[in-house]
Amino acid sequence: MKNIEKTYKIITFGCQMNARDSEKLAGVLEKKGYTEGIDEETSDIVIFNTCTVRENANKRLYGRVGHLKKSCAENRDKIVGICGCMMQETDEVETIKKKYPHVKLIFGTHNIDEFEKLIDKVLKDNERIIEVLDKADGIEKDMPSKRVYPFKCGVNIMYGCDNFCTYCIVPYVRGRERSRTAKSIIDEIKRDVDDGVVEVMLLGQNVNSYKGKLDDDSDKVLTFPELLSMVCKVDGLKRVRFMTSHPKDLSDELIDVIRDNNNCCKHIHLPVQSGSDRILESMNRHYTKEKYLSIVDKIRRELPDVAITTDVIVGFPGETEDDFNETIDLIEKVNFDSVFTFEYSKRTGTKAASMDNQVDVVIVKKRFDRLLKTVEKNSRYNSEKYVGRVMDVLVESKDRDMGKLTGRLSNNYLVHFEGDESLIGSIIDVKLMKACGFYFEGEKC
Ligand code: SF4
Repeated sequence: MKNIEKTYKIITFGCQMNARDSEKLAGVLEKKGYTEGIDEETSDIVIFNTCTVRENANKRLYGRVGHLKKSCAENRDKIVGICGCMMQETDEVETIKKKYPHVKLIFGTHNIDEFEKLIDKVLKDNERIIEVLDKADGIEKDMPSKRVYPFKCGVNIMYGCDNFCTYCIVPYVRGRERSRTAKSIIDEIKRDVDDGVVEVMLLGQNVNSYKGKLDDDSDKVLTFPELLSMVCKVDGLKRVRFMTSHPKDLSDELIDVIRDNNNCCKHIHLPVQSGSDRILESMNRHYTKEKYLSIVDKIRRELPDVAITTDVIVGFPGETEDDFNETIDLIEKVNFDSVFTFEYSKRTGTKAASMDNQVDVVIVKKRFDRLLKTVEKNSRYNSEKYVGRVMDVLVESKDRDMGKLTGRLSNNYLVHFEGDESLIGSIIDVKLMKACGFYFEGEKC
């Protein structure tokens, strides 16, 4: 039944996987005739898609959910729902049940494909529904989706994670690894391309450990490089990205596939987390600093224009000044194009949270500042080597304040340049005129 007047708002916290899930929630609501509303106060359906990686994420969420009490009292038909990783935690669900009676729908990460059924039931009965499953029942079913950008999108290739890094809650809330069949992934990408998509991002917590069957009837199991190679051959697909890679599983075959396919983007996000072997072991990461450096060497040898980005955690339990110096040394040796830096913070439910050698916050802050300075110096140096070159840019948007177009290089660097809005969604040549750290100023050729 179409319901043209009604609006929805989806508020997304966390990673690319959640962003992709939110596109699916939006797809279901648009299919039902809802349109995107202006804000959460005035929209008829409001869904919070939560993240629980950081300890205090719930405070931010509860503030916003609490604010909606008044608009729910004024509009008795309004539906506020909460889903995502935080809802896999029993304590959080109990808190919402007790303190936020205006929340009418709660579901978790394992039954997102039931969203349409759940929302229909709330709409029909106007009663609260709480449905959170402990574990996934196979691979989620196909769902409609409303893309944020018409020309690019994410495609889940796998769900969950088996790695149990000691600081991370993800395996507990997203469950064990499940890979989709190659056929279902390729079919989805072909549909996206027919619909105007030129760039896809293959998504998984650890894409390198992908092990999906060719199709439902086949016994053949594909590796990630084999899947990536198939994806790159989809007719009309101009760019392929993937996220995230775990260093322990990054193979030579993967580097070969990236090198041999022009449409495979030359960007690898390879979270290192620490440069100290002792800390890496305590984090349960299964590689050493030496191994990481040798992977980077191989990547740089085979892919000269590649950008390598990473994540680093400062102040993991037991980290000494010597351990931290190893991290600084690694950053200087690798010359990352970008580093996402995090101060370690305890996450209840993880092994690291109960380690008794937590680092003093003052020391963590000092180390963090030193890390930022090292990162800044190195990334500026990296981008300067591209100045003067003509490179292809996927035009993504027009920045209202600057009045310029913004696009991305294959290696994920941003470029700002003068041009007409009609270019958004196309891939064009741009000359890089000036390096400004994480972005360039350029001129359209
Ligand atoms: S690989 Fe480690 S950090 Fe990444 S999702 Fe899995 S457990 Fe968390």
